[in-house]
Amino acid sequence: MRHVGKSFANHVVLNDINLRVDHGEIVTLIGPSGSGKTTALRCMNFLEAYDKGDVLIKGQLLGYSGTQRGPAHVDSASLIAEVRKPLSMVFQQFNLWPHMTVQENVAAPLVLGKKMSRQAAKAAAMAALGRVGMAQKADDWPARLSGGQQQRTGIARALALNPELLLLDEPTSALDPERVEEVLDVIRSLAGQGMTMVMVTHEMAFAAHISSRLVFMADGHIIESGTPRQMFTQPKSERLKSFLAPLF
Ligand code: ADP
Repeated sequence: MRHVGKSFANHVVLNDINLRVDHGEIVTLIGPSGSGKTTALRCMNFLEAYDKGDVLIKGQLLGYSGTQRGPAHVDSASLIAEVRKPLSMVFQQFNLWPHMTVQENVAAPLVLGKKMSRQAAKAAAMAALGRVGMAQKADDWPARLSGGQQQRTGIARALALNPELLLLDEPTSALDPERVEEVLDVIRSLAGQGMTMVMVTHEMAFAAHISSRLVFMADGHIIESGTPRQMFTQPKSERLKSFLAPLF
C-alpha cells in the first residue's frame, strides 16, 4: 500500500498508509477499535475502494491506474478480479452460505470463480477441509456447526483458492471464548506451513507469538511497526505504550 487514503463522507478513516508485505511474512494490524484496521485490510482486497494512493499486488496496481483516479480499465471488474487472484479473505462473521453444505460452501467459489469442474472443485474442497480438520463435517449444514467449526470452514474456503496471501479480519472475535483456540490452532498451523498472512486481531498474545511484524494503527494512521519483541519491549510512541499497558 502506497500513500493509501480512504474517507467515508467527511470522515478520514485511512491516512497515508504505507505498508509492504513480503512473501512468507505474517503481519498483524493492531490498535484501538475504529483505528482503520479492517478498512485497511478491505482496501488491500478492493472490497473497499480507496480514494488516494495505490495498492499493488505482486507489482500490479489493484483497481486504479497511476495518478488517474477512476477505474483503470473499461472492464474494471474483471481486471480487479484478476489482480487480486493471489489473495483470499477470512471474515469475522464467517459469511457462509446457509443453503449450502460445508463442502459446497468451499467448492462454490472454485466452480463460480475459478471455473473448475464440479468434481475437481469437490476434491479441492475436501483437501482444504482436511487442512482445517473439517473433512468429517463436509455434508453438514452451516447452522448445525459451532462458531469455531463455521470459521474453520471459512478458512478452508479461503485456502481452497490456493492464495499466496491470506487476509484474516478478526477471525476469532465473533466466537464464544471456548471456540477461539481451535481457530487459532488452525492459523498457527498455516503459519507453520509458511503461509503469508495479514491479520487483524485483538488476540494480542497470539499476535505476538505468531507475527513477524506488528503494525500499530490509531486514528487512521500507522503510528509504528516492528517485530513483536520491539513493539512490546521498546514501544516508541506514547500511544502504543498506553495501548499495550493493560496487557501488563
Ligand atoms: P477497526 O478495524 O480499527 O476497528 P474500522 O476500519 O472498522 O476500524 O473503522 C474505522 C472507522 O471507519 C470507524 O470510525 C468506522 O465507524 C468507520 N467505518 C468503517 N466502515 C464504514 C462504512 N462502511 N461507512 C461509514 N463509516 C465506516
